[in-house]
Amino acid sequence: QSKGAGQGHIQTYTAEVGVATRERTRLLHGLQQAFDRENLFVVYQPQLALASGRVVGAEALLRWRTEDGRFISPAEFIPVAEQSGLIVPIGHWVLRTALRALVRLRQDQPDLRMAVNVSPLQFAQPQFLAEVEAALSEAALPADSLELEITESVAVMGIERVSALLGQIKARGIAVAIDDFGTGFSSLSYLDRLPADRLKIDRAFITALDAGDATARIAEMIVPLGHRLGMQVLAEGVETASQAQALRLLGCDEVQGYLYGKPMPLDAFTAWLAQRQGGA
Ligand code: C2E
Ligand code: MG
Ligand code: MG
Ligand code: MG
Repeated sequence: QSKGAGQGHIQTYTAEVGVATRERTRLLHGLQQAFDRENLFVVYQPQLALASGRVVGAEALLRWRTEDGRFISPAEFIPVAEQSGLIVPIGHWVLRTALRALVRLRQDQPDLRMAVNVSPLQFAQPQFLAEVEAALSEAALPADSLELEITESVAVMGIERVSALLGQIKARGIAVAIDDFGTGFSSLSYLDRLPADRLKIDRAFITALDAGDATARIAEMIVPLGHRLGMQVLAEGVETASQAQALRLLGCDEVQGYLYGKPMPLDAFTAWLAQRQGGA
């Protein structure tokens, strides 16, 4: 038994956890301040029908600009917000902000829908659905103008509860999308218990379409899988014309990605939409 080595290992481990915890605490404190000081904002990325090229909606994406003008990526701060519970008030604020933006956008295109990301913790709040309905009626928007994006990780709250809540959401006419499909831990056996309107294929699979390897074969199978389960399929992170062409051949319904438009502040989105409608 090498006792010394064991202790050394434990000390190193503790030191690393200490650094990670301090870093998380610092981020959390910064995020809380950013929320209080209105340094969080929402950008909007277009979603298009692939066959017609028509803009059908937008996804609301959260941004954090620090006091000194740096941007911190959601990949970095969303997990911290999630662990601390701060995602609940922030997520509610994103929802209300995005719906106000949708009211503005629907002046130019009345049938546009808005997709909003919902974290598992938010989704598990008992008052979640009531708050969503209140936000919709506050904005005087029809239920089907909103799409809630959840990931397979909501299954941690128990598939029975998730299924029941999704049933209630759908009964109200609110749309649901399963985000990042193919990257989650859950198995296909969950998929038929998650009644959703749309399946969003994760960008990793779309990138693979250009490589034409085994991962590309999986992307190709997700489209008919979604259709067989009665869902529309949207491809995320489309960056090249050849990816778009492959998706067209596969019968994918909708697309979102830099090829069409990056996430934009509301004013830029409005201008972008006007330019497209002008036939530009
Ligand atoms: P997501 O919901 O899957 O959003 C799609 C991400 O892909 C966005 O990253 C978007 O900017 C990026 N993206 C879109 N098209 C392309 C492309 O063609 N190429 C590349 N390289 N990237 C593309 P973003 O904005 O950094 O957000 C990352 C993740 O953070 C989101 O993934 C979502 O899970 C989370 N997130 C963002 N906003 C919110 C929010 O308001 N609430 C919650 N709970 N999560 C959010
Ligand atoms: Mg999303
Ligand atoms: Mg996604
Ligand atoms: Mg994601």
